[in-house]
Amino acid sequence: MIGSSRYRTHTCVGAADAVGERVRLSGWVHRRRDHGGVTFIDVRDRSGVMQLVFHPEAAGAIEAAKGLHPEDVICVEGDMVPRDAATVNDRLPTGGVELRADRLEVLTSAAPMPFSVEDEGAEANEELRLTYRYVELRREARLRALELRGAVVRAIRAVLDDEGFLDVETPMLTRSTPEGARDFLVPARLQKGSWYALPQSPQLFKQLLMIGGLERYYQIVKCFRDEDLRADRQPEFTQVDIEASFVEQEDIQSLVERILVAAFAEGGVTLTAPFPRMTYADAIRRFGTDRPDLRFGLEIQDWSAQAAESGLGVFEGVVKGGGVVRGIVVPGAGAGMSRKDLDGLVAEAQQIGAKGLVWAVPGEDGALRSSVKADFLAGLPEAFGAAEGDLIAVVADRERDAQNVLGMLRGRLAERHGLIPDDAWEPLWVVGFPLVEWNEGEKRWDSTHHPFTSPRPEDVDRMESDPGAVIADAYDVVMNGLELGGGSIRINDPGVQQRALALIGMDADEADARFGFLLRALELGAPPHGGLALGLDRLVMLIARAASIRDVMAFPKTATGGDPLTGAPAPVDDAQLKELGVAVTAPPPAAG
Ligand code: ASP
Repeated sequence: MIGSSRYRTHTCVGAADAVGERVRLSGWVHRRRDHGGVTFIDVRDRSGVMQLVFHPEAAGAIEAAKGLHPEDVICVEGDMVPRDAATVNDRLPTGGVELRADRLEVLTSAAPMPFSVEDEGAEANEELRLTYRYVELRREARLRALELRGAVVRAIRAVLDDEGFLDVETPMLTRSTPEGARDFLVPARLQKGSWYALPQSPQLFKQLLMIGGLERYYQIVKCFRDEDLRADRQPEFTQVDIEASFVEQEDIQSLVERILVAAFAEGGVTLTAPFPRMTYADAIRRFGTDRPDLRFGLEIQDWSAQAAESGLGVFEGVVKGGGVVRGIVVPGAGAGMSRKDLDGLVAEAQQIGAKGLVWAVPGEDGALRSSVKADFLAGLPEAFGAAEGDLIAVVADRERDAQNVLGMLRGRLAERHGLIPDDAWEPLWVVGFPLVEWNEGEKRWDSTHHPFTSPRPEDVDRMESDPGAVIADAYDVVMNGLELGGGSIRINDPGVQQRALALIGMDADEADARFGFLLRALELGAPPHGGLALGLDRLVMLIARAASIRDVMAFPKTATGGDPLTGAPAPVDDAQLKELGVAVTAPPPAAG
């Protein structure tokens, strides 16, 4: 791979095949040990580590080796030899050989490290690790994650390139592209008082490319969303963005299945296509979420009818008021739970929004431990199909709230009780989303996806009369409880587009001001088209079995959107602001 140069004839791992040859390597000092007059150095390059031995005969070299510090950058030369049988290390690809070094050149010496590269378990705090991200990147796990990311991207491109998708770049300095987040804005110096927005996605451009006749587009592209950073979100992230003309849902879905099969294969995971399909309504009803984790059961069961006759005031009241009584069974979980654990569960449910929680654990011979003593509960285990030692958790609430709480408890309890199998992969498509959702706070309809999503043709007529019942031609792909991506067939009729914008509260003037260019384009010959975007960071995180998307990004930001390495974001000079015609009204936060 690497041609012979002043610095190296081989990589560290490549040199393992060069026993008997004269070899030159360059890399970082990983570790040093002095042992009975002999000095051992592990030198590390991107491929891995190679053990160097310096014997006393190599007089100049051993002296220099003794003075090396961790992470000094060196070039060494010597003879590649097999190790003594007693010192062979089977766990390393280079563990059967070593370089008997006789020449050593220090290319650059390193100051003391902020944290150890070699000891990957030595967790420095995140701020420090990100400040010295380039040091952290030298760690094997980080390096391999970025290599895997590169391989996944290659695999995805191969599918798309093969199928005639054209890689096209779209502008980064643009107008707002609504995806439900705040925009990052960039002041325009040449038109003071005007601002570019960084794209939340290339949505409108990819649609314009379809109107432009490109038929098949993709882009692996940075997108920007200024959100309050929840766990594992980044203000800039990468999407695999796709759009095609003359397609229906199924065409995009099967393309994406081919992409995901290829991508997961890079991580040694075999996915089977087609993935199952589930409607949004079923996902919510059975799992309490639109991204159900199908690696385990624990489906939500309805007990409203029985509860309405139970004689227990709270249950009856809730059902009479139009609410529901529903629950889940966690196999085997109840047996080991004390009264305190079970009461803790009630508190946990309340913390995530439940008004209360009734628990029951069937014991031997029909006995039942439960949080409320009521005869009717005796029928609970049978109704729920629960066996001895199982935990039954029941909530009574408005349907939406009950589903939400049970959906969350389902995931937490499965995790806590070890019910999620290792290395299981359960992709699915969720389809049949509502086009819009009622925003109670602002008393208006919001797009469930974005306002360019097409309603199902059969629902177009009731966009005004019954908006909440309109189903979108949209689809999300979900894996193990995480949304990997989402997309839709788009509106390609200017009249319908106008009505869709009106539905979310945009009058004709505002629609024209913000999206007049799209409405005009839709008048000029728009093919039927649709697409989807996959979140690349999350996809690679899953394939790499990493704990966070930060682990698979080269230079991620902290939870507050900062980059401790460069100090971004940072105040700028007054002169620069003046030139931009921008005044800062909020003082920058105090340094430190
Ligand atoms: N633009 C959408 C998004 O970023 C994806 C799509 O509809 O293709 O989520």
